[in-house]
Amino acid sequence: MNVHEYQGKQILKKYGVVVPNGFVAFSPDEAVEAAKKLEGDLWVVKAQIHAGGRGKAGGVKLAKSLDEVRQYADELLGKTLVTHQTGPEGKEVKRLLIEEGLPIEKEYYVGVVIDRSSSRVVMMASEEGGTEIEEVAAKTPEKIFKEVIDPAVGMLPFQARRLAYNIHIPKDKVNKAVKFMLGLYQAFVDNDCSLAEINPLITTRDGRVVALDSKLNFDSNALFRHPDILEMRDLDEEDEKEIEASKYDLNYIALDGNIGCMVNGAGLAMATMDIIKHFDGEPANFLDVGGGATADKVREAFKIILSDKNVKGIFINIFGGIMKCDIIASGVVEAAKQISLDRPLVVRLEGTNVDLGKKILRESGLEIVAADSMEDGAKKIVQLVK
Ligand code: ADP
Ligand code: MG
Repeated sequence: MNVHEYQGKQILKKYGVVVPNGFVAFSPDEAVEAAKKLEGDLWVVKAQIHAGGRGKAGGVKLAKSLDEVRQYADELLGKTLVTHQTGPEGKEVKRLLIEEGLPIEKEYYVGVVIDRSSSRVVMMASEEGGTEIEEVAAKTPEKIFKEVIDPAVGMLPFQARRLAYNIHIPKDKVNKAVKFMLGLYQAFVDNDCSLAEINPLITTRDGRVVALDSKLNFDSNALFRHPDILEMRDLDEEDEKEIEASKYDLNYIALDGNIGCMVNGAGLAMATMDIIKHFDGEPANFLDVGGGATADKVREAFKIILSDKNVKGIFINIFGGIMKCDIIASGVVEAAKQISLDRPLVVRLEGTNVDLGKKILRESGLEIVAADSMEDGAKKIVQLVK
């Protein structure tokens, strides 16, 4: 789960990470009120969407007067921002962060991730801040420094100090940077984050070390123990189909292709997507209906797939282990009765109660193309959507 920049900053602040003073605003009036509460004569009006790259796309504006704050707030609210992270359809701006403008000395990058190769939390830092870190990693990987953190002792001050020196934080600000990094690490661990990225971390001309941006992702499987974070969820920012799927506990991720997939088991779901791609098709989603799915669940999953206008055909690939083939078949038939099935459907069933499952489908009167194997099914659906 993602949260907005301003929400991430509220969390970080509790851990001693310095963030600019600021307030969220939902209207130009609120934006001006927020600016009045902030000291100084420079304000930043920042679009709050769950995507980075806002600066380049015109979603971060420096205002030199309250009139300008109102003007920029007016411009940004309701606007669809297209950044390199939103995809071509962009995201509509519904909230703003009104922040004090800070005298930036230099911008840096600090990120905390879970590193698969070491199976540990890693903090990365670079003096190439403010730009896309992917670009730094591709062109000048030697400018990214990493500290692997031992979970038994947590991040140690010497590790933070080493990072600070490596990225050339000015000596007089190293202690502040150390406190910043230790706080960031603690926030990451305490809140079960999967990513915490500060780009940029800045030093200011008046001697501060501040998080100017924040991007926090949380492990959805741990949200049950963070009701305060769950409250920050903004459904406006999430794919409607994914929200619907989460109500039924389905593992669903929307993708860009045109072949809807209904599969049981994450491994089989991945393999199904691979084999579709192998035969030059493009999956429209990842969907694992789970091991013990009921007909209700299958029906809802089928509806979600059909609600995707990009879907030109559906491939159901089920291995009945705990999940029985007849349950899947009943769910599909029920769903197809509720919403007319207007697209080709290829079904491959194998395993427990397979004969019963096939019989239910055969007798349903639905137009179903049966497949003998995964390969056969993938070939058939790719052919049918072409
Ligand atoms: P994004 O990563 O989405 O482009 P950022 O929050 O990183 O958005 O902001 C982009 C740039 O805008 C920053 O790199 C910084 O130069 C400038 N900026 C952002 N917030 C402030 C602020 N409070 N004061 C001064 N400059 C800012
Ligand atoms: Mg940024």
